[in-house]
Amino acid sequence: MTKALYPGTFDPITKGHIDIIKRASSLFDELYIAIMINPRKKCTFSVEEREELIKKCVCDLSNVHVVSDSNLTVRLAKKLGCKVLIRGIRAIADYEYELSQATSNMILDDKIETVFLVARPEYSFLSSSIAKEIAVFDGDISNFIPEEIVEEVTKKLYK
Ligand code: ADP
Repeated sequence: MTKALYPGTFDPITKGHIDIIKRASSLFDELYIAIMINPRKKCTFSVEEREELIKKCVCDLSNVHVVSDSNLTVRLAKKLGCKVLIRGIRAIADYEYELSQATSNMILDDKIETVFLVARPEYSFLSSSIAKEIAVFDGDISNFIPEEIVEEVTKKLYK
């Protein structure tokens, strides 16, 4: 059985993340989505809120689990028995960052492989930050954010 871990900030989860989750969950037996807590990153949604939002969107995927952690990603992967880290690549800017992360993780634990999934063209521009910038103005985020959580995300940002 091959288990994979998809780490990220997910502040909040977008349709781009969901697409990666669906594709990764069909490639591996079990997929863990991990909200990685980085105290240097200022997030809009609390870890608990992000976890709830993700769970609402993935409840129909039986081999997908949601966890959160504040340790090194490779340590979490090892603890959960995941040999693979999943990351999404949208553009060359992502690649530069992802390459340094993947190489660092390889140095930390060379038994864990990073697998990159290329973003679908319709989501290649999409980020949590863009969705939040639109939601602040009560703009329509239904093309960016899964429909199950559109209302909740807009409510949090539009004051
Ligand atoms: P991080 O802060 O770890 O980059 P994110 O939640 O922004 O966390 O992203 C998690 C992963 O999902 C990253 O590998 C990122 O490149 C990928 N990702 C983000 N948005 C998209 C998208 N629209 N399509 C495909 N992959 C994406």
